[in-house]
Amino acid sequence: MQGANYIDGRWVEGATPFTTQNPSDLDETVGSYTKVGEAEVREAMAAARRAQPAWAAFNMQARADILYRIAELLKARAPEIGKLLSREEGKTLPEGIGEALRAAQCFQAAAGDVIRAQGEWYNSMRDGFNVLVTREPLGVIAAITPWNFPIALPSWKIAGALAYGNAVVLKPSSFVPGCAVMLAQIIEDAGVPAGVFNLVMGDGRATGNVMIDEADGLTFTGGTATGRAVLTRAAETMTKCQLELGGKNALVVLDDADLDLAVEIASNGAWIQTGQRCTGTERLIVTRGIHDAFVERMAKVAGSYRVGHALDPETQIGPVANVQQFNENLQFVIDAQAEGAELAAGGGAVEARTRGLYMAPTLLTGTRAEWRCNQHESFGPIASVIKVEDLDEAIHAANACEYKLSSGIATTSLKNAERFRKASKAGMVMVNAPTAGLEYHVPLGGRSPSGYGARETGSTAAEFFTESKTSYINHGAV
Ligand code: NAD
Repeated sequence: MQGANYIDGRWVEGATPFTTQNPSDLDETVGSYTKVGEAEVREAMAAARRAQPAWAAFNMQARADILYRIAELLKARAPEIGKLLSREEGKTLPEGIGEALRAAQCFQAAAGDVIRAQGEWYNSMRDGFNVLVTREPLGVIAAITPWNFPIALPSWKIAGALAYGNAVVLKPSSFVPGCAVMLAQIIEDAGVPAGVFNLVMGDGRATGNVMIDEADGLTFTGGTATGRAVLTRAAETMTKCQLELGGKNALVVLDDADLDLAVEIASNGAWIQTGQRCTGTERLIVTRGIHDAFVERMAKVAGSYRVGHALDPETQIGPVANVQQFNENLQFVIDAQAEGAELAAGGGAVEARTRGLYMAPTLLTGTRAEWRCNQHESFGPIASVIKVEDLDEAIHAANACEYKLSSGIATTSLKNAERFRKASKAGMVMVNAPTAGLEYHVPLGGRSPSGYGARETGSTAAEFFTESKTSYINHGAV
């Protein structure tokens, strides 16, 4: 795995070395890698294009077996991957291992997708004709991923792409290349033919542009601003896109909520995994009758978490993943206070046994829906409370934000839950449940500008990873 780039079945060294740092301990280097240049990225795209037709024609059962083998290898190596993930990204060890197992399940499910029937048969308006609607692989898929799910996120993109007969070039975030390298090793060991899967390390724009230009489809997950840039680039070549982007997710807590449950799901959504989930709960919209009791309980929970080194068994919340995000989080709190938010918990850095990027779970209160702190994604362990009078005002506040990824409600009234579920503009709605994670058999994603194009998982994966063909057959002609 020298050099950490995997192109056409070979491990390739690039010209630009870089290292990664453990966010739990800035004095520890996790790995050394190299970035490739434009020529190697073009080579990876060309290798994928050469390899794709044979992969599409590969025996169906054999293709399913290979994907299943990837799942088995991921499961077997989950403790090792989980540990690397914790050192590289800062998730706690159980979270890291859990993510590796989820990655395995994505390949396991995709193995089943390979052998599922794809196509429909119709009668024709013309006598003696039939109409077939079939699905064909899209071709070469460019996959670009962020740092917050270093093993599961590339996995569900690659699993979907390979299942439907595509070849893939993956560019992971340079903050977390180690998990992508391990995944590439596993894909190689499982017997995926050379060129069908390729891994390149590089700077976002330069590498991304070549990939977008040369690909048939782009599956991208990252921030909304980056999403806009890749979509603009893709417009030039009309490359098919599916984008999963930022969120500013709201949880509505009504007077009739079960307070214990409301606090449990709100604290989980806001602070677990250091708030670094695209579906993390950042806005807590709470009606007047329950507001004070809810805030008091939330502040207590925030203060009770053990924040520390990701590999310490007692740690509940690991560090912020990188210095840039850490500084942005601290500035976010300062800016929120400047516009009038009060600090009910946390707000700053905390000390632990190592020199890490530790931030206290933070609760801001007395905020208004239109304030910057309720309009901009923080992507850290920070949630702000908006006090409202009733469900109508809560629905209005929840929808009064450009992001439309996920939302939730805590209530004991089925009527209120159903009203909110229908009125929410988000792509995913949770009722009395913590914020959305991946269930790989259903679509995951948001509405624009939190997402764009067909969702990449579940029943909608085929929409993105294949092209449809409608064939009219005059079976009475000859
Ligand atoms: P980011 O947008 O900075 O980077 C994402 C990826 O894009 C990285 O690999 C980066 O190198 C690459 N990139 C950067 N500029 C590029 C360009 N011009 N062209 C092509 N590629 C480019 O995001 P991040 O900081 O790594 O991740 C955090 C963001 O991801 C948050 O906004 C979060 O909400 C979002 N996210 C969304 C989902 C979802 O499913 N909706 C899931 C996870 C994360």
